[in-house]
Amino acid sequence: MAKARRAPFSIAGESVSAGKRAHIELPTARLVTGSKVEVPLVVLHGASDGPTAWISAAIHGDELNGIEIVRRVLASINIRSVAGTLIAVPIVNVHGFNAGERALPDGRDLNRSFPGSPRGSMASRIANTFMTEVIRRCDVGIDLHTGSGNRTNMPQIRGRLSDPRTRELAQVFGAPVTVDSRVRDGSVRQVAAENGATALLFEGGEANRFDDEAIAIGTEGVLRCLADIGMIPAGDRLPPPPTVFVRSAKWTRASRSGVLHMETALGKEVVAGEVVALLRDVFGRKVHSVKARSDGIVIGAAWSALIHQGEGIVNIAELE
Ligand SMILES: [Zn+2]
Repeated sequence: MAKARRAPFSIAGESVSAGKRAHIELPTARLVTGSKVEVPLVVLHGASDGPTAWISAAIHGDELNGIEIVRRVLASINIRSVAGTLIAVPIVNVHGFNAGERALPDGRDLNRSFPGSPRGSMASRIANTFMTEVIRRCDVGIDLHTGSGNRTNMPQIRGRLSDPRTRELAQVFGAPVTVDSRVRDGSVRQVAAENGATALLFEGGEANRFDDEAIAIGTEGVLRCLADIGMIPAGDRLPPPPTVFVRSAKWTRASRSGVLHMETALGKEVVAGEVVALLRDVFGRKVHSVKARSDGIVIGAAWSALIHQGEGIVNIAELE
């Protein structure tokens, strides 16, 4: 007797048959000109049963590394070997992406607007659609980011590490650093975790450009996680490199304005009081030494040459 075929997966009013890969457009707020704006996504609905997972990128429209990570992940997966269902969303914030901006046209941060509401602000409505069509249906999810503004981030996973499964999956991802992050910030990761999903956030590199190292680490990490949950075969994938677990990170800020000369680098261990940067005036005279405010590892840093008083210079995370 033939095995019963797996039921199709319905999303945004469309149906994806078992064993098929489909491109779907998720409708969102139209442009003022009336043009439709749709969130493009790819559904891989495996022929056999398994978990449902999502990967998403560019929820901040100028954070591009994740778009390339999603592309490479999809290029590595053969639909014939998929168990369960993967929803891959390379660009969540389509409005921001097209404008080269982090936020939505209403100025709101989409990743502070979850779970959203069908009658709320534009950000809130998009969050609600994404929540209903994607997040609520998933057991596992990975949201991909980069540093924001004039900052760059060491490739890192953030998640609620008090949850054993989240900690285990973070270890499988194998980013150089894993940060315990339990903030209630209206992010997709926080809301998904509260809905019972195992949710990770990946950060790596900076806005508006591709960073090969961060992309390679992100791609391997996502694929290892998908193999770990039994969605794709492990194949000859290497075991995860060790990750350093850290607690809450704090920014060391400039107490004067000046031209930045960095004296440390991402991944370096520093001690409190150590000089991490020099600020000079436009003639090259030293105006200030920036000293680490705590012991730990540098997981984020400013890259702009121009620094204003109060700006973050290095983000230092305390080792667990
Ligand atoms: Zn982001």
